[in-house]
Amino acid sequence: MIPFNVPPCTGHELKYIAEAIDAHKICGDGAFTKKCNKWLEDRFGAHKVLLTTSGTTALDMASLLCELQPGDEVILPSFTFSSTANAFAIYGAKLVFVDIRPDTMNIDETKIEAAITDRTRVIVAMHYAGVACDMDAIMDIARRHGLLVIEDAAQAVMSSWKGRPLGTIGDVGCYSFHETKNYSMGEGGAVVVNNPAFVERAEILREKGTDRARFFRGQVDKYTWVDIGDSFLPSELNAAYLWAQLEMADEINENRLKSWNAYREAFQDLADAGRVELPTVPEGCVHNAHMFYLKCRDLSERTELIRFLKERDILAVFHYVPLHSAPAGLKYGRFCGEDVYTTRESDRLVRLPLYFGLTSEDQARVIAAVRDFYGV
Ligand SMILES: *Cc1c(COP(=O)(O)O)cnc(C)c1O
Repeated sequence: MIPFNVPPCTGHELKYIAEAIDAHKICGDGAFTKKCNKWLEDRFGAHKVLLTTSGTTALDMASLLCELQPGDEVILPSFTFSSTANAFAIYGAKLVFVDIRPDTMNIDETKIEAAITDRTRVIVAMHYAGVACDMDAIMDIARRHGLLVIEDAAQAVMSSWKGRPLGTIGDVGCYSFHETKNYSMGEGGAVVVNNPAFVERAEILREKGTDRARFFRGQVDKYTWVDIGDSFLPSELNAAYLWAQLEMADEINENRLKSWNAYREAFQDLADAGRVELPTVPEGCVHNAHMFYLKCRDLSERTELIRFLKERDILAVFHYVPLHSAPAGLKYGRFCGEDVYTTRESDRLVRLPLYFGLTSEDQARVIAAVRDFYGV
């Protein structure tokens, strides 16, 4: 069986986990967490990075930093993971879904402005498959209307827009290190705090509402409960696992890109013949090969392709029932404008196996099976 995903493992994970145990430091914010935070800050030129327990809780922190009032509105795509929306719905915000662009599956920046009302506070840019949203357009709209921008860069670690790393452009960026992401710690994530006004509060929110971070730096002589918060910091054991990924981030990235490019090349003739559509990487985007997908003609062809591959022991998957048509989406949100692409394009999309260490033999089997399905 060729799995859809294999969690990344470089071989150094156990050594680092043992180091954390030997150092008698397995709770949060030990040496490995600090190394990971600093690596992410240095590599991406980020103002402040803090590991979190998941990409979901990174989004929760971002939402709390926005200090939304009940009834405030948040603009986001409907084609995204539930966490993108949940982070805002949980604090009482109203979700306003906007259609996507069919080429990148990202929010259509030309449709955002029509969704803005006097209650709008935030735009969420989710970088699907690690390919950037048009951040120039989004930042410009936000500036003109006085809105905050949260980047859901869960899939976009190591990607960039016009040379700027994704996650570092909006007020806050959110990364995921779930086992299905390019770099992993099992469950985990990070907030990238780009707006300097948010840094101190981010540290407090992450530490159960206390100013413990300032206490550890010697800036206050005792720490107390100063604000609301939660426990958003991950265990050192998870951070140790992540460190083994980050120190080999370039190797992992290159390995994934090699597989991504091989898929792209292998299906170019099918795309040229109009049988499938391949992912588009617009000018200015450098992507991280988070995902390789094809678009079939329609839902029934996709269902047949997935079944065809499964019969050949290959797991291909699809995702995102558009949020605006899901029960919670209906309850907490509304779609603004017409759903031209969100439902239609998500029905056609199928993701092929892609992970660090995918062998060229296994990939050749996947390619041959897809080509066989299309009779070429
Ligand atoms: C994976 C993902 C998340 C959530 O990350 P977790 O670490 O699984 O909580 C949020 N948004 C998007 C777009 C994702 O792909």
